[in-house]
Amino acid sequence: MQRRGLLIILSSPSGAGKSTLTRRLRDWDPSIQFSVSATTRDPRPGEEDGKDYRFLTQDQFRRDVAEGEMLEHAHVFGNFYGSPKGPVQAAIDRGEDVLFDIDWQGAQQIVNSALGAHTLSVFILPPSITELHRRLVSRGQDSDEVIAKRMQKSWDEISHWGSYDHVLINDNLDDTATDLQKIVEATRLRRLQQPALLEHVRKLQTEFEELK
Ligand code: ADP
Ligand code: 5GP
Repeated sequence: MQRRGLLIILSSPSGAGKSTLTRRLRDWDPSIQFSVSATTRDPRPGEEDGKDYRFLTQDQFRRDVAEGEMLEHAHVFGNFYGSPKGPVQAAIDRGEDVLFDIDWQGAQQIVNSALGAHTLSVFILPPSITELHRRLVSRGQDSDEVIAKRMQKSWDEISHWGSYDHVLINDNLDDTATDLQKIVEATRLRRLQQPALLEHVRKLQTEFEELK
């Protein structure tokens, strides 16, 4: 049965495991598209333009926002981030799911957008703040100053956990990845994701009337 694509939103404080869980989910089902965000921050070592992010200047970013090309956008850790609208709409129209690694501000904007009925939002909590810090340090990609800034902001992000559909504590990675898969599988079966159900019920009604 043809289904409507889901907008799968993952949020968490930086370092709790969104990028890792994104990779796990796409290894499990490669048909899930990743929404490549635009950002004005500098690339980290190993990050590729167009794959991890589209790296834009502030002027380019502002122009895209002004032209209505962003589904949502926000200012995070001193930089602009946003989700380009075009690729998302195209994927949803093909019946494919799109995964977003975005903060709570972006999540709220998408939930309140015209596509809001098709979102699945998941918040990832760390097992402890000490472990969150350890993960940021062990990732080895940010300076001490950047890590300190992200730690300072982590409570801001965590405080929005209650507005998400699902909340997972990312302690054991395999367990969290499995739970995320189960949530996606179940949400794909939601009535709203299956427009063909209406046609099926109409057929049942016709048959019912004919048998009367
Ligand atoms: P985010 O995208 O939320 O900023 P990452 O996915 O980059 O976080 O994870 C931060 C670091 O923590 C990475 O080095 C990653 O390998 C590690 N990590 C992620 N999940 C777990 C986990 N469940 N247990 C231990 N380490 C983890
Ligand atoms: P990072 O710089 O570590 O890649 O991302 C920093 C924060 O920005 C993370 O919380 C991430 O989820 C968020 N982020 C990344 N892309 C977007 C986006 O397109 N929109 C919004 N609102 N937040 C984003």
